[in-house]
Amino acid sequence: MGVLKRYGTYLPISEKTPSVNLEEGNTPLVRLDRIGNELGIELWGKLEGCNPSGSFKDRGMVLAVAKALEDGARALVCASTGNTSASAAAYAAHVGIPCYVLLPSGHVAMGKLAQALIYGAKVIAVDGNFDRALEMARTCAELKGFAMVNSVNPYRLISQKTGAWEICESLGRAPDAHVIPVGNACNISAYWAGYKDFKAWGKITELPRMIGIQAEGAAPLATGKPCPNPETIATAIRIGNPVSAELAKAAVAESGGEFLTVTDDEILAAQAMLASKSGVFAEPASCTTLAGLVKLGHAKKLQQGATFVIILTGNGLKDPDAALSQVGEPVRIGAEMEELLEALA
Ligand SMILES: *Cc1c(COP(=O)(O)O)cnc(C)c1O
Repeated sequence: MGVLKRYGTYLPISEKTPSVNLEEGNTPLVRLDRIGNELGIELWGKLEGCNPSGSFKDRGMVLAVAKALEDGARALVCASTGNTSASAAAYAAHVGIPCYVLLPSGHVAMGKLAQALIYGAKVIAVDGNFDRALEMARTCAELKGFAMVNSVNPYRLISQKTGAWEICESLGRAPDAHVIPVGNACNISAYWAGYKDFKAWGKITELPRMIGIQAEGAAPLATGKPCPNPETIATAIRIGNPVSAELAKAAVAESGGEFLTVTDDEILAAQAMLASKSGVFAEPASCTTLAGLVKLGHAKKLQQGATFVIILTGNGLKDPDAALSQVGEPVRIGAEMEELLEALA
């Protein structure tokens, strides 16, 4: 059952809201014991890459699109580092309306570009960064009367709270710490709001510490300084001017958490570690979370035995180039058994 059906009573929908459902949400929360034991913590990964378009963006998009239809929108528009466009294009195709996507040219992972195109969106590559593409999409929405489905759309953030609710229902409590990549900072804000809801409704007693991880080259929140030219291999969080900066700062401050930065090398190392020691392949932005935990571990700042959830926001298959950049070539042999046995040795 998709999130609108599963959590409908907690979401701003009525009989007039069209039902939209790609069976998003209800993603696996997997215990990652090999890595957890190494770090001395109880580690869980929330596999958001199992959503229909391969990232958590579907959780918010489903409500944004349902409300856009309710309001009579003729088309969707968004700017995107990749996953928002993949998600918007998927839902637009599902409900049968056009979708216009503005991408920062040259900085979108191949899988995400392929998704937007094959779902049938009109894809426009802007010769500028994400922040500029977002401004242009906003103006376009106003001029043309299209529904803007970027995370400035308030329904996205509301419906992304479902991730926090699922974690609490799976664990029977909130984790001690919630570790999440931060780009536009909407997801960290949504999770914090979701945990606070569950506490207010008496479903959990303790709130988690919120730990937001940014890439070193795109870290306006971690450094407290604007970042006019964001640069990182983790293209999903290559953002210099986060839309939900204030909400995210409040989440970290209220929860007694922190913002951390990790380098691109640390992100790639964490991606390989996650894949080879847990069987989970997540895209680079998602792997900032494990990179952050490894870094805290080295600094002896990981509370031993505590429960940590890392949000693995997107599927590794979206960005095969990033993974291939750090692994060797396959061993090549002729079609002879001796050669095979030699290669196995
Ligand atoms: C969008 C996205 C993020 C960043 O989420 P924000 O809400 O922008 O902070 C992280 N990882 C992936 C895979 C994403 O698609």
